[in-house]
Amino acid sequence: MKIALLIPVYNEQEVLPFFKEETQAVLRTLPQDTFEYVFVNDGSSDGTLNWLKNWAEQDKSVKIISLSRNFGKEAALTAGLSFAAGADAVIILDADLQDPPSLIVPFVQKFKEGYDVVYGQRTDRQQDSFLKCFSARCFYTCYNAIASRPMPPNAGDCRLLSKRAAQAVLRLPERERFMKGLFNWIGFRTVSVPFARQARKAGQTKWNYWRLWNFALEGLTASSTVPLRLWTYFGFAVSAFAFLYALWVAAQKIIYGNPVSGYASLMVAILFFSGVQLISLGVIGEYLGRIFTEVKQRPLYLTDETVNCDEP
Ligand code: UDP
Ligand code: MG
Repeated sequence: MKIALLIPVYNEQEVLPFFKEETQAVLRTLPQDTFEYVFVNDGSSDGTLNWLKNWAEQDKSVKIISLSRNFGKEAALTAGLSFAAGADAVIILDADLQDPPSLIVPFVQKFKEGYDVVYGQRTDRQQDSFLKCFSARCFYTCYNAIASRPMPPNAGDCRLLSKRAAQAVLRLPERERFMKGLFNWIGFRTVSVPFARQARKAGQTKWNYWRLWNFALEGLTASSTVPLRLWTYFGFAVSAFAFLYALWVAAQKIIYGNPVSGYASLMVAILFFSGVQLISLGVIGEYLGRIFTEVKQRPLYLTDETVNCDEP
């Protein structure tokens, strides 16, 4: 079996020596398979690329695809998949050792049992802050409530894809790529392997809360149109209420002769419903913006140079 390890790297100079050491130790325990490394350098500005080039010079199984700038992890993964799609299976790992390379062993074993997708499922999130755990839980609850295909919670990008699964992901043409959603969408025989997510070995995370929030929006809008439809139901409900309220006001006036008072209630209603209208416009805007990126049909990434590999 020929198995490619796909590792997106963005300013990971500090952690790469640890990564090399740990992965090589794991691969030595699997002598019956051939492994290659496919590193996607996502526009790093530190010494990452040079470090990788040094390694690739000594070891021809180390392939490097260097993108022309930072395109984000989702684009980097897509680039890596298209360069690694010739292998029998692709294993996606983070460079920072948060997805322990020891997972390669059960992944390969499950693959040989006939599974197309083997994903790592985090059993504990002790390394994450309370806010991160809480926001992740909210995201998965919302996502699974509205997405056409629910996603198992606590599954990251760390997974093995068989050749046909990797090719299936590459056939999805969208520009806004929420990879976890795409991996989930393709189906095929899937199994999970539980693991405890480690702390980052060295260096800094590239994700702040603002980036995570935007990523969550991307995930939700890419996988569901329920947020758009919601406003129709809300509109119906409000109209029905307004109609009944109008009847009540009319009855008050005609039957009891009460004067119709209500500057305060008028103000509240105006402010509330202007807010609601702006929110619904915002939701439409979210989708419109995404349609705009889709119709532009720009390439997902641009390659600057490659080492030890040919164009796919
Ligand atoms: N990464 C990338 N491009 C980016 C951000 C991150 O290729 O724009 C890579 C990064 O080098 C690492 C992986 O994606 O190998 C996960 O990133 P990180 O550890 O920062 O995310 P976290 O684990 O904190 O979610
Ligand atoms: Mg990490």
